[in-house]
Amino acid sequence: LTQLFRPLDMLGWVYRTIRQGLIDMADMFRLMDTPVEVEDRPGAPALVVRRPVVTFDNVDFGYEEDRQILHKLSFEAPAGATVALVGPSGAGKSTIGRLLFRFYDPSAGRILIDGQDIREVTQASLRAHIGIVPQDSVLFNDTLGYNIAYGRDDATAEQIERAARDAAVLPLVELLPQGFDTEVGERGLKLSGGEKQRVAIARTLLKDPPILLLDEATSALDSRTEQDILATLKRVSADRTTIAIAHRLSTIADADIINVMDAGRIVESGSHFDLLRRDGLYAEMWNRQLSEETEVLAAE
Ligand code: ATP
Repeated sequence: LTQLFRPLDMLGWVYRTIRQGLIDMADMFRLMDTPVEVEDRPGAPALVVRRPVVTFDNVDFGYEEDRQILHKLSFEAPAGATVALVGPSGAGKSTIGRLLFRFYDPSAGRILIDGQDIREVTQASLRAHIGIVPQDSVLFNDTLGYNIAYGRDDATAEQIERAARDAAVLPLVELLPQGFDTEVGERGLKLSGGEKQRVAIARTLLKDPPILLLDEATSALDSRTEQDILATLKRVSADRTTIAIAHRLSTIADADIINVMDAGRIVESGSHFDLLRRDGLYAEMWNRQLSEETEVLAAE
């Protein structure tokens, strides 16, 4: 019987999650893989954000009891700043995003937004304040307009158009005879990786969150598309507190603070030039990526 109820429970949870307008996180966190671990405290108030400061304060965390992933991790993202997380694969970068969304709670330490412990506020209010632009955006089998307005039932046609313009989706829309009413997804128009990502950016713009979590695509976009997307993201993150998870260092070289992670710890922190001067892990990663890019250019 348990075997029957567990999938039903999961379906119920997925449904509630979708109802809360959270489906845009599915790509990043693989919804079905994410256990239901965290519940709102009874009577929890909503998060109130005046200054979107994000603080990780001595956070310990492991997915399994006998394997700790984050070790006394502390960092701050000041209001309006862009803070990058870089480091080798498996260092714990995406885990930080999952904790900020409260898919899991730390085993020790605290995560604060504008001084409020995120365990003490409702998850719906927490997630309403954070926009995600995931690595690989998944679209619904519906119209382009629906995909942009998703989670904002009250959006007007003007607001949708403005978000599309700011995310550089409008040139695409204008080429389509049915414009925003064009069906996209499996049964409709197939969009490229870059176009899908722009739709995700437009959706985030419409949500207008004070905090952004950017998860850089590992899948290669061609370099011109990548430059376009980066320029768009730069505009979008300008007035927001942004946490950017990056694989290619060139995309975050101008971040206000770069936190270099290794095996669940922040091992270096500073601006690009601070870190190059320090001649440690960041400088090593930077030089390696530079020589790889030079090799690629030489081969072309
Ligand atoms: P990448 O650059 O490859 O995306 P990352 O720095 O984002 O890596 P995380 O995804 O945060 O790394 O993973 C950190 C560690 O946690 C890894 O060792 C990974 O195997 C482990 N891990 C991630 N998700 C889970 C999970 N759901 N259950 C158990 N372990 C997990």
